[in-house]
Amino acid sequence: MPRILFVEDEEAVLDTIERYFSREGFDVYTARGRQAALDVARRHPPDIVLLDVMLNEGPEPEHDGFAVCRALRDEEYEGPVIFLTARTSESDKLSGFDLGADDYVTKPFSLEELKARISAVLRRAGGARSLYRFGTIEVDLDNYVIRHADDPTEERLSNREQELLRYLIEHRGTVLPRSELLTAIWRYSPNVTTRTVDTHILNVRKKLRDDAANPRFIETLHGVGYRFIAQEG
Ligand code: CA
Repeated sequence: MPRILFVEDEEAVLDTIERYFSREGFDVYTARGRQAALDVARRHPPDIVLLDVMLNEGPEPEHDGFAVCRALRDEEYEGPVIFLTARTSESDKLSGFDLGADDYVTKPFSLEELKARISAVLRRAGGARSLYRFGTIEVDLDNYVIRHADDPTEERLSNREQELLRYLIEHRGTVLPRSELLTAIWRYSPNVTTRTVDTHILNVRKKLRDDAANPRFIETLHGVGYRFIAQEG
């Protein structure tokens, strides 16, 4: 059961998150400010920390989420951190990532979206693999490239293509509905439809030099979704 420490000054939000994630099988601890967060982290070391950036209503309004993150890092917490923020400016994002944040979720978000982000971060923190070989093809997810043994030109993957291909490979052999891929990779971004999934599959397939009619990597199940079928080795 992954243990979450959630730091937020608003009781109502804390309650909602605590109830939802407990139901979803997480071990949830909450704190309204810096000192409480440190106390909880000492007694119940978390697997992941969710930090609201704005903690104005909490017991220590002078310490925002970034300060709490620094304090946790000073106490040797090295696990993943996700910031929750209503602010979207780049400088906020950068100061978050300087502190070793693993992701950023902008309010308002849905609980399903937050859960997808948490799962992705936990998966990466758990040492997700990044190099796969399938016959004459090497998929290097750390470097966003696909290499073909018979061709020195690397195929570069966009961020979304990399995430999509990782998801397909990690779930190989399983039929993945387009709606699942949409949720897992695009996380309810606006203006995204299942056609976006199809377009990205098309691009990834091209870079794998796969043939949709006679697939070696990505199989289309019409009206259902996609399945990664290649074996490693
Ligand atoms: Ca808040």
